[in-house]
Amino acid sequence: MLKIVETGAEAMSGRRPLEGRTAIVTGSTSGIGLGIAKALIEAGAAVMLNGFGDAVEIESLRASLSVANDVDVAYDSADMSDRAAIHMMVERAAMRFGQIDIVVNNAGIQHVAPIGEFPPEKWDAILSINLSAAFHLIQATFDGMRGRGYGRIINISSAHGLIASPFKAAYVAAKHGVVGLTKVVALEGAEFGVTANAICPGYVWTPLVEKQIDGQAKSHNIPRDAVIRDVFLKDQPTKRFATVEEMGALAVFLCTDAAASITGTALPVDGGWTAH
Ligand code: NAD
Repeated sequence: MLKIVETGAEAMSGRRPLEGRTAIVTGSTSGIGLGIAKALIEAGAAVMLNGFGDAVEIESLRASLSVANDVDVAYDSADMSDRAAIHMMVERAAMRFGQIDIVVNNAGIQHVAPIGEFPPEKWDAILSINLSAAFHLIQATFDGMRGRGYGRIINISSAHGLIASPFKAAYVAAKHGVVGLTKVVALEGAEFGVTANAICPGYVWTPLVEKQIDGQAKSHNIPRDAVIRDVFLKDQPTKRFATVEEMGALAVFLCTDAAASITGTALPVDGGWTAH
């Protein structure tokens, strides 16, 4: 009841829902991570961006997001395959923001090949960046969240965290692993105001997907719209890509008091794909 009153008061005062909160969003120089980081910043949270890219472009992005929203936006270049770098990023974020309330484990890579030809080093890299990095970042921030009685952990899994497709052994294994990790973290955080949820997108329109469309159109010598319709959106019943803005809006909601009882879930945002 108290929470409902607080939420109503916030709405009436026009206060942004995540004002005063702080977040780390991994892989937020592009695509879904950037969409989520923008949404958290617009909701008033101070955010540490992370990911690869052109240093000048990243600095310009960081500064413009900070100025436009009047919040602190930082950037750390930590490679998510490097545990020591993850811990250093957390230390820097804690020094700058004072504490870390929200963690979004989003950085991810993909490699597609039949099992017999799957390069072992690609298996190691995908497990490391898509799964182990989430564990390391959670481990480095979890006790602080529990001690303060508020924390939000959002892990970007995939529809491939719920179902499989051929040729994606490492990705499907890692994304299923993320769902399992999410459940354990939810149970260990539940009594301490810390929730953990996995978002499981179907196909989302990002630079990564756009590049794959061009690649497939060239290699199969078919038009782009045929690749989109017959390959990418074949199993996505809405027949449209989800957007990074949709991912951002869901992440913001999961961080609010209204979502305090949503924990341990794997939320499909896949246009009905996994309803098949
Ligand atoms: P993207 O390629 O546009 O962005 C990936 C981000 O991760 C970039 O910022 C990149 O710099 C960063 N990154 C990659 N390797 C890193 C590393 N070692 N250390 C730090 N940062 C690193 O991809 P996207 O489509 O936005 O995907 C983001 C997440 O969403 C991934 O986990 C992906 O598996 C998941 N996902 C994407 C889709 C989709 O359709 N796009 C669907 C389901 C799940």
